Amino acid sequence: MPTFRGDKGLWKKFRPEELADFDAFIRNPELVWEWYQYRRKLILDVKPNPGHFSLAELEKHYSQFTLITQNVDGLHQTAGSKNIVELHGNILRNRCIECNKIYTEMVLPEQNRVPRCRCGGLIRPDVVWFGEMLPAEAVERANRATKTCDLFFSVGTSAVVYPAAALPGMAKQQGAFVIEINLEPTPVSGIADVVIHEKSGVILPMILQKLGL
Ligand code: ZN
Repeated sequence: MPTFRGDKGLWKKFRPEELADFDAFIRNPELVWEWYQYRRKLILDVKPNPGHFSLAELEKHYSQFTLITQNVDGLHQTAGSKNIVELHGNILRNRCIECNKIYTEMVLPEQNRVPRCRCGGLIRPDVVWFGEMLPAEAVERANRATKTCDLFFSVGTSAVVYPAAALPGMAKQQGAFVIEINLEPTPVSGIADVVIHEKSGVILPMILQKLGL
C-alpha cells in the first residue's frame, strides 16, 4: 500500500481531515465510508511482500517475538504473523461508535447507506483517526514488549509519528540492540546500532538466510 506519508500516498488527492477525522465522519459518514470501501478494495489486491513473510517466519523461531505495527492493512496477519500489536487499528475491521462492538465483516448496504449497529450507533472503520488516542491496550503491549526485548528492529518507518517513534529509543535505553531498516535516514538512525538503507523486503529475507532459517 502507498505509505501514509509517502509522496505518492493516496492522501495527496484528498484533504485528510475530510476523511480520517471523527467530526468529518459525523458530518458526512457516507463520504468516509465510500473512501474506506475504496481503500479496502485496493488492499484486497495487495499481497504480503517478502518482508512480511520473513517477519512471520522469524516469529516461529523465537519464543518471544512481538510485531508492533502502524500499518492498518492486515497484511502481517495474511503473511502469518501471530503476536501483532496494531497501534493504528485495522482497516478491515469496524466498530460501533456507541457501544464499541467490533464487526469483522461489513458490506455496505445498498444506496451507500452507512451501516448501523443493533444498538443504533453508526459503525465506523476501526482505525485511529486524526486527533484520536491510540488504543490504550495496544500502546501498553507495545511498551511492555519494547522494555523487555534484547533486539529491536525498526523496519520501514519514517519514525516521526509518536508514540511509535519513541519505541526504538526506549528499547535502546533499556539495553536492547537496535537495528534500523529503512530506505532513508530517520531520527532513529542516530541511536541505532546498525542502520541499513534498503527495502525491508530485500534485507529481511537476507537476514533469515544468514540465520539459516
Ligand atoms: Zn452499538
